[in-house]
Amino acid sequence: MTSPLRPEISGLAEYTLTQHPHRIKLNQNENPYELPEGIKREILERLAVQQWSRYPAFVPSEQIRLLAAFTGWNGEGILIGNGSNELLQLIFSAVLGHGTSMVISQPSFTLYKILGKAFGADVREVQMKPDLTFDVPRLIDEARASHAKLIVLCSPNNPTGTFLPRAELRRVIDETEALVVLDEAYVHFGPESQIDLLGKCGRLIILQTFSKAMGAAGLRLGYGLMAPELAKELNKLKLPYNVNIFTLTALEVLLARWDEIKGWIEPLKRERARLHAGLQAMKGIRVYPSAANFLLFESLERLPRQVFSRLLEKGILIRDVSSYPMLARALRVSVGTPEENGEFLAAMQEAL
Ligand code: PMP
Repeated sequence: MTSPLRPEISGLAEYTLTQHPHRIKLNQNENPYELPEGIKREILERLAVQQWSRYPAFVPSEQIRLLAAFTGWNGEGILIGNGSNELLQLIFSAVLGHGTSMVISQPSFTLYKILGKAFGADVREVQMKPDLTFDVPRLIDEARASHAKLIVLCSPNNPTGTFLPRAELRRVIDETEALVVLDEAYVHFGPESQIDLLGKCGRLIILQTFSKAMGAAGLRLGYGLMAPELAKELNKLKLPYNVNIFTLTALEVLLARWDEIKGWIEPLKRERARLHAGLQAMKGIRVYPSAANFLLFESLERLPRQVFSRLLEKGILIRDVSSYPMLARALRVSVGTPEENGEFLAAMQEAL
C-alpha cells in the first residue's frame, strides 16, 4: 500500500529525547528551582472556583492584557500558545510550503529544521562562524539568493548560548524581505530583549516562553509578539481554545507574582559564571561564553559520548550535542542549583 502521508514526512528525522535514569537533571535547560508552594496554591485555588465543564474564553483577553503590561507590547499583536513550540508550528504553517525557502543559522534548536521540512520548505542552513557567533552577512546572502520567506534566529541561541546583537538583527531584517522570527526563549538570562524593535519592524515576530526563567515548562505556555495586522492573520490558523484554563490561570498568577519569581535569575547567572570558570580551568575542555542558562563546551581529548556516559554513571544527565552541525566535540550542560553544579564539576574532573 502506498503511504497516505506526504512524502516529506517519511524523510523527517524525529525530534526525540531519551530520558536516561538520573539523579541530577541538567539536560533540558529547565529552571532547577520549583515554583514556591504559595504560588502553586494560589493557582490551584483560582482554578477550583472556575467551571471546568466550560471552554475557556474564546479570546483570552484578560491574559493578553496582562502580557501586554508585562512586555510593553500592544495586546492586539500578542498570540498565546501551548508552549512557544506551538507558535513556531503556527507561523511555519502560515508561511511555508512547497517552493518556499527558509533560512536558519546552525547549530540551533533542532525543531526549526524539522518543522520547516515538514511543511515542504527548502531549508537553507547557514553555519555560524568558527567562534560560534552568527554569520550575519551569509544569512543575508542566503535569504536573498533563495528569496526566503522566513528566517528563524534564536537569541540567546540554543545550544551555543550566543547572543545576537541588536544591530546585527536589524541588518537581517532591513537587508532581506523575509519574515524574521526571533526565538527569545532564554531572553531573561541575556543582556536585553529586542521587543522595542517590533514598533519599527513589521516583519519581526518575537517568541518568548514561560518554560525557562519563569520555571513553568510543565504548564506549556508561550507567546508571540508582532505587528497587530500580522497577529490578526495568524490568528486565523490558531486552533480555538489552544490553551487550557489551568495554563491561563497560571499565567495570571505568575505575572502577578513575577517579582517573587524573578529573584532566581541573578543567582542562576552567578552560577553560570562559576560553571564557566570551573570548566575553563579543566585541561582538555573549551567552554564558550553563554547568555543563556546553559553552557556549551567541547571535550578535546575524550569523546563527548564517553564524557556523557561517565557523568551518567554518577547520576548526572547532561546533553550530548555532538551530532549537531559544527559540534562534533560538544556537550551542553544546563545551569542547576549550586549543589548540582558542584557535583557536576567534581564529576567532570573525574570524567576527563
Ligand atoms: N525555543 C528554544 C530555543 C528552546 O530551546 C525551547 C525548549 N527546548 C523552546 C523554544 C520550547 O519552548 P516551549 O516550552 O515554550 O515550547
